[in-house]
Amino acid sequence: MKKIVIGNWKMMLAPTAGRNLANDLVKLLPAKNSAEVVVCPSFTALELVGEAIKDSQIELGAQDVFWQDSGAYTGEESPASLVELGCQYVIIGHSERRQGLGETDQMVHNKAATAIEQGLWPIVCVGETYEERHNGKAEAVVHRQLTSALQGVDLVGSEQLVIAYEPVWAIGRGQPITIADAQLMVQIIHQALLDVFPLTIVQGNVRIVYGGSVNATVAQEFANIEHLAGFLVGGASVKADQFVDIIKQSI
Ligand code: PEP
Repeated sequence: MKKIVIGNWKMMLAPTAGRNLANDLVKLLPAKNSAEVVVCPSFTALELVGEAIKDSQIELGAQDVFWQDSGAYTGEESPASLVELGCQYVIIGHSERRQGLGETDQMVHNKAATAIEQGLWPIVCVGETYEERHNGKAEAVVHRQLTSALQGVDLVGSEQLVIAYEPVWAIGRGQPITIADAQLMVQIIHQALLDVFPLTIVQGNVRIVYGGSVNATVAQEFANIEHLAGFLVGGASVKADQFVDIIKQSI
């Protein structure tokens, strides 16, 4: 499978700033880029960014989705609306939502299952806090988050799933995990995926990416980790030149 590099723009850009960044990326990215590239603007920027990238290889993703198709759910967004705006991917269970907004494993599961049913491909975020790592619980936490998100979820045909391993303490800190720890955690996630899906699905439909203070140097160092298929990038993804450098190094 192709490597994938995903930009999580968080709540950092208003719609016009998002469109400008998308235009810059379209200009800067090589015409034939061998990694899949996805940008995830905030909901209000999806339409403008979608228009800016429509003739390029860059794909559109959202940062969250609700698990119902429609109804009295004030402030939520349905999978169908995101599909209508051109989204192919959706980030689910980012630690900023799990920690700051009380998103539970069950909610992450509901969102991932509904997204797939409705034609969106989930980027499911998992990762331990500093305290959990310090107490030797990193592997157990990530295994629990992954299996509870995906148990009972089916992938068929060309449906794609991305697991983003993001140690919470490494996000936005300028300090990524060590290569050795990344290797170990990616291995744990690969094993956990085999507890949930058949080998053919894990090999053909699922990619594991790393997120947490990724820059071009980290991308180059981590690029050859076994079973690692790319990166989820936050801060550096809203700077066109930095994001393009990461994409180039990730192949
Ligand atoms: C993220 O928010 O998913 C992320 C990885 O952020 P950063 O790259 O800024 O650490």
